[in-house]
Amino acid sequence: MNHKTKKKGFQPSRMRCPYCGAPVVYRSAEGIYKTNHLDTMLYVCSKYPKCDAYVRVHEGTKIPMGSLANKELRNLRRTAHLYFDQLYLTGLMTKDAAYQWLSDLLCTPPSEAHIGHLGEYYCKEVIAASKKLLEQRKQKQHRRPVVCEGGAAS
Ligand SMILES: [Zn+2]
Repeated sequence: MNHKTKKKGFQPSRMRCPYCGAPVVYRSAEGIYKTNHLDTMLYVCSKYPKCDAYVRVHEGTKIPMGSLANKELRNLRRTAHLYFDQLYLTGLMTKDAAYQWLSDLLCTPPSEAHIGHLGEYYCKEVIAASKKLLEQRKQKQHRRPVVCEGGAAS
């Protein structure tokens, strides 16, 4: 069964900056990004640039990729995504399996397992756990990788 748990009725106008509580504005990334060839739209803290918190939208929508993040958290999320993506880009697991792994790691349903929603703690967890898996793979590169360790079938 595919349980859709996506929340409807998202109201960006009621979003508040998680760092300073100021209202959030929907605007172009111009003046924030060095270049904005793709006409990226952002949700930005209304106190920007004093408060450097923003988040991109999913392309072609007004839906934010996650919660607003300051520079440090944006970098952490980017790094977490890089390592996480390696899990399926290297063929260590399928993309679906990688997202399942992520949702297990975060203890949330797969529909909510998004790096864009993570805070610092979980970004670091994802980076560390992904690194570990990738290193294990490197070590047993010449052996056939065995999947399914302790996998409880659904
Ligand atoms: Zn703010």
